[in-house]
Amino acid sequence: MASKTLLITARSFGKVDPAHIARLREEGFAVLEFRESPDMDRKQLEDTLPDIQTWVVSSYRIDDAVLSKGERLRLIIKHGIGVDNIDIPAATRRDILVMNTPQVNPLAVADLAMALLLSFTRRVVEAHLNVVSGNWNQFLGTGVYGKTLGIIGLGRIGLGVADRAKGFGMTLVGFDPYVGEQVRMQRDDISVVDLETLLRTSDFISLNVPLSDETLGLIGRSALQQMKPSAIVVNTSRGRIVDEDAMYEALRDQRVAGYATDVFEEEPPVGSPLLTLPNVLCTSHIGWYTKESMKLLGDQVVDSVLAVYGGVTPGNILNPEVLSRVSPDFWRNG
Ligand code: NAD
Repeated sequence: MASKTLLITARSFGKVDPAHIARLREEGFAVLEFRESPDMDRKQLEDTLPDIQTWVVSSYRIDDAVLSKGERLRLIIKHGIGVDNIDIPAATRRDILVMNTPQVNPLAVADLAMALLLSFTRRVVEAHLNVVSGNWNQFLGTGVYGKTLGIIGLGRIGLGVADRAKGFGMTLVGFDPYVGEQVRMQRDDISVVDLETLLRTSDFISLNVPLSDETLGLIGRSALQQMKPSAIVVNTSRGRIVDEDAMYEALRDQRVAGYATDVFEEEPPVGSPLLTLPNVLCTSHIGWYTKESMKLLGDQVVDSVLAVYGGVTPGNILNPEVLSRVSPDFWRNG
């Protein structure tokens, strides 16, 4: 095997822009592709690990047992932000650097939040399925102009949703215990309110918070009870922010009007009762997945790998203490 061996299991790296892999090859990397999929042969993949130095990964679970097979493994780079599938302390103990690609395109997710809201309110999917099946029925929609959109989480995506919704003539209310005051001072187009007020007054609610102990199940029975029966919840954050059992009951009993979601507690949501309801619209965690975002992530993977091998320390190393333990000669000579 060549010395600079690089394994790609990440599902999308190099697929949208083949130049990413070409660039690594030009720089002398022997590239092996073994893409992650639900039915992949894990043993076959892990049998390649003893020869691999660098691993570009999506969500493959890399625990200590997997790491123990990578005798030459020195660098793991996540094609994405979340590294919960990688046991970083174990990698650190084995002198393996872990990196991610922290720059994402939050506006792609904001676009999807609006797409979900408008598709739900204007019944786009029903109308499409109706026409392609040879029919020509009409579907009475709900307008968004003049309605109140409540945004929970006023970070990058939440503010992107606000900007878009403003263009549609919606009234904006927002809740964020951390940056709410700052947003109140900076933007007069968003009324920063407490959570109860947002839940009570919003026609539509967009969830844009990270998953944490605090936000786990944030939209549960109590929150759902406070919403208008006509409320539509849009979730492009994480499935577990919503208590799906409570949401199912509220939707089934028409105590809330709709749930448009890109994310689920379990993905894929095999057997989820939510999928049986007519007032649910869903997509397969595609918020971040655009050609432009893939180019951005791919650029970061290539730049980061080449930087480390070139002796430069990029800022996206998650366990920098490892660097001092790997000889600079290693990166030069493999
Ligand atoms: P961000 O960090 O810029 O913003 C998150 C905001 O939530 C922050 O302002 C924070 O103060 C606020 N917040 C934290 N706890 C809160 C609480 N209890 N109540 C209200 N607000 C709270 O993050 P972002 O880039 O806007 O991303 C938000 C989330 O979107 C991510 O954490 C991720 O879960 C999700 N996401 C989904 C996709 C997708 O493909 N669907 C892609 C990227 C991110």
